[in-house]
Amino acid sequence: MRDKELYRQILGIQTPWEVSDIELDIKAGEVKVYVEQKSGAKQTCPKCGARCPGYDKRRRQWRHLDTCQLKTLLVADLPRVQCAEHGVVSVHVPWAELGSGYTALYEALVIDWLHEASIQAVSRQLSLSWNAIDGIMQRAVKRGLARRQVESPKRIGVDETSFRKGHDYVTIVSDGKEGAACGGRA
Ligand SMILES: [Zn+2]
Repeated sequence: MRDKELYRQILGIQTPWEVSDIELDIKAGEVKVYVEQKSGAKQTCPKCGARCPGYDKRRRQWRHLDTCQLKTLLVADLPRVQCAEHGVVSVHVPWAELGSGYTALYEALVIDWLHEASIQAVSRQLSLSWNAIDGIMQRAVKRGLARRQVESPKRIGVDETSFRKGHDYVTIVSDGKEGAACGGRA
């Protein structure tokens, strides 16, 4: 019981989710933390928020930040609901984005490392494939763009410069004050 409470706290698992079991595999250097919803938890459609009846459950796992040098995986039988408007959809989990096999905190760690080191180094150090890193980067870009749409700049500046002398040209669009920019190769 104590282990469950410890993991609940360090992983930030909150109601209606709770830690139901912990499986430690010292040989593999891995710990699996099983989480489930408290019985009777009310289900809602992740797209429209409507209260929905449960449909079934699918086992999913997410890699989380290591705990005590152990590769840490969250495992849950993720409920799917049947929404009158959106059909059968998986419920939203607070620790990860839809479709990702990594928790939001793990993705943030990868993004932080990508600011410090090359993709090759991050791939090697975190034992992640290039595909996995690419997926994490794509989701970060999508989140960034969604945020920018909320904070539309009042003025924009457009500049074009050579990326490497004599090679590609990039177009840089910025908001002119905070340096927020996105580029596209021409
Ligand atoms: Zn819906």
